[in-house]
Amino acid sequence: MPAEFGVVYPLWDFAADEGRLLERVAGEVGIEHLTIPVVTGAQTHFRLGSTAEAPHFHTEGGWHYRVSTKAYAGVALRPAKARWVTGADALAQVRARAAALNVRLLLRVDVRTVRALVDQERHLSQRNAWGQEVPFAGGCPCNPELRELLRATLDDLRRYEPAGYELVDWAPDTAADRAAARPLGWHQAVRRLLDVCFCASCRQIAEREGIDPEQAARSVRVRVERLLATPGGETTPDEDDPVVAAYVAARAADCCQWLQRLAEGDSERRRFLVRTFGEPPLGNCAPWVRLTRLPAGYCGPLDGPVWTGRLQALPEISALALPVWRPTFGEAAELVRLVSEAAQAGVSTFDFEGLGEGAADAVTWLKQAVRFARRA
Ligand SMILES: [Zn+2]
Repeated sequence: MPAEFGVVYPLWDFAADEGRLLERVAGEVGIEHLTIPVVTGAQTHFRLGSTAEAPHFHTEGGWHYRVSTKAYAGVALRPAKARWVTGADALAQVRARAAALNVRLLLRVDVRTVRALVDQERHLSQRNAWGQEVPFAGGCPCNPELRELLRATLDDLRRYEPAGYELVDWAPDTAADRAAARPLGWHQAVRRLLDVCFCASCRQIAEREGIDPEQAARSVRVRVERLLATPGGETTPDEDDPVVAAYVAARAADCCQWLQRLAEGDSERRRFLVRTFGEPPLGNCAPWVRLTRLPAGYCGPLDGPVWTGRLQALPEISALALPVWRPTFGEAAELVRLVSEAAQAGVSTFDFEGLGEGAADAVTWLKQAVRFARRA
């Protein structure tokens, strides 16, 4: 099956440039889909290309489309509307434009990072092994109220007839504040343990599986202390503590089963689980497909052999989201090479991000990369 190419196109970019970038990309690059972030955390962008007179854009995040109140009637939580959303239904407009261009719509949903929601409903917060709330880490995907809100959101979005959904970081023990400076972020093993969630919902799931959450929390606390006391401990591979491992696995499995139930009865739509490159991989959760994302500003190794080796070692990368511009790629040739190598390694869906912030010739870079990958 040939690879499918698309661009991530936020609604605030569409509102600012009235769809000019979309027309240009559809005409010059030829794309199969558009990915629209419809629920996000806080976003700040600087786009000289689309709005030279007011290039700075900030939103505290939330739901970026006109929600239909009745879709959330039976749900305990309310969707938090993003403040910039007023007047026209930009999502309906972009959908109509995409349909005219014969481009499919994927909707990207990141419910966990909406701060307004977690600030108002603190019980949604992740909790560390010390029993403390960690609101910056985002809402816990094991929380039944948050799950119902996500279900209602996807039901609501069916009005826009998307070809599929991208769900961001919907996995337990994944902190949503990854971009911020975080305590002990340099120590990978400790950081992972600090991210293990012990909220009431997580504890309940573990107990149902016969695992003692208190024992798991104690193990985490002891291991963190021990790792920090060991010189060079940051390079020690995770020695598997069976109780912690079982605690983590039980909640990951529960989350996956819930996602599978969510997909039931709506099988024609495509479903992706978005995961940041370098995070521990998710287990298999078909029909959900894993989508690996290189965040904006990513400057890690992208050299041919290193990258290709990684792709081959990670067969679960079947979909890839990546920035198209600097600093990730210094010149067009680097983007061209990576995209064609990834397509050859079996990546079948590409989401290109950051065109709004790139210079005008970022579209030309993308055109070359897509054309080359298609020829190969
Ligand atoms: Zn939790």
